Amino acid sequence: MEIRKKLDEICGMVEENVPLSSLTGFRTGGPARYLLSPRDICEANKILSLSAGTGIPLLVIGNGTNLLISDEGFEGIVLTTKNLNHICVENQQVICESGVHLSTLLKTCLISSLAGSEFLAGIPGTVGGAVISNAGLKTVWFSEIIKELEVLPIGGGKSYILSRREIDFRYRSSGLENVFIYRVSIQLQKGESEKIRKEINRHMEKRLLSQPLEYPSAGSVFKNPPGHFAGELIEKCGLKGLCKGGACISEKHANFIVNKSEATSAEIYSLINIVKEKVKRVYNINLETEIKIVGKF
Ligand SMILES: Cc1cc2nc3c(=O)[nH]c(=O)nc-3n(C[C@H](O)[C@H](O)[C@H](O)COP(=O)(O)OP(=O)(O)OC[C@H]3O[C@@H](n4cnc5c(N)ncnc54)[C@H](O)[C@@H]3O)c2cc1C
Repeated sequence: MEIRKKLDEICGMVEENVPLSSLTGFRTGGPARYLLSPRDICEANKILSLSAGTGIPLLVIGNGTNLLISDEGFEGIVLTTKNLNHICVENQQVICESGVHLSTLLKTCLISSLAGSEFLAGIPGTVGGAVISNAGLKTVWFSEIIKELEVLPIGGGKSYILSRREIDFRYRSSGLENVFIYRVSIQLQKGESEKIRKEINRHMEKRLLSQPLEYPSAGSVFKNPPGHFAGELIEKCGLKGLCKGGACISEKHANFIVNKSEATSAEIYSLINIVKEKVKRVYNINLETEIKIVGKF
């Protein structure tokens, strides 16, 4: 009760026991004890400080498209960045609060004739989530167009700037575990709107052909191990189409697990383990998940 009062004082829009299935790409996940959507850096900072000061666990969610959350939910504070959605253009830089959707970033780039972010077309996340997982394609990653970040320590405190060079960006990882990303500055180049539009459409069409976008999912579940494609290994193991309850390994793209009909997170998790075991047995390769797994399984 005491915590609820403190959270109300910070944000004034606290929800309790909200099903996280409404906030994740898989459309699975149990309830969040408290759900808050700060409207500015000050509110975000207070929430982080409260979590650190009281020991109540904290989970940050952008658009939830790279997350598998337990059916038991999250017994703590879930902070969504949906209200941190301010975006502006300064010369050839786009400055976004972390809750800005990548699709909004792309629209802004198109309107402002700024080229360089087209490869992000069709990735359904926010700018903050894309920084954390260094989102992108096989050969081009978000880190290549990031200039700097404004971040808060995860326990709250003064915000500070991290330039790209200070961040250990790698394939689908940023190493940024102890910060809340507040703002991202993206460096682009002047381009031609028509060319930018065509490039965005090209990426979207490629996705429509290769990805099972008709079902809820979290995109590719596993990282590509060095020298291999996870999807190819899974397909060669004969696992395409395998289902556990409502969760299935996609027939269209073997690295996607799709929620075909009211799947649970436990069913998705069970498929993940089946894939890992079989790929290890057949190829002696340890697959690592690209998605973040949260809570008890
Ligand atoms: C159909 C489909 C296609 C996809 N295609 C691609 C693809 O081509 N390439 C690719 O890389 N990914 C892809 N993804 C995965 C996903 O969309 C990306 O990883 C995306 O960047 C995740 O952003 P999000 O806002 O949804 O992050 P979330 O899933 O909400 O969060 C991911 C992680 O980031 C953390 N986080 C989010 N915001 C912040 C913040 N402000 N500060 C600190 N931590 C934060 C969360 O705590 C979590 O650990 C795809 C997903 C789907 C469903």
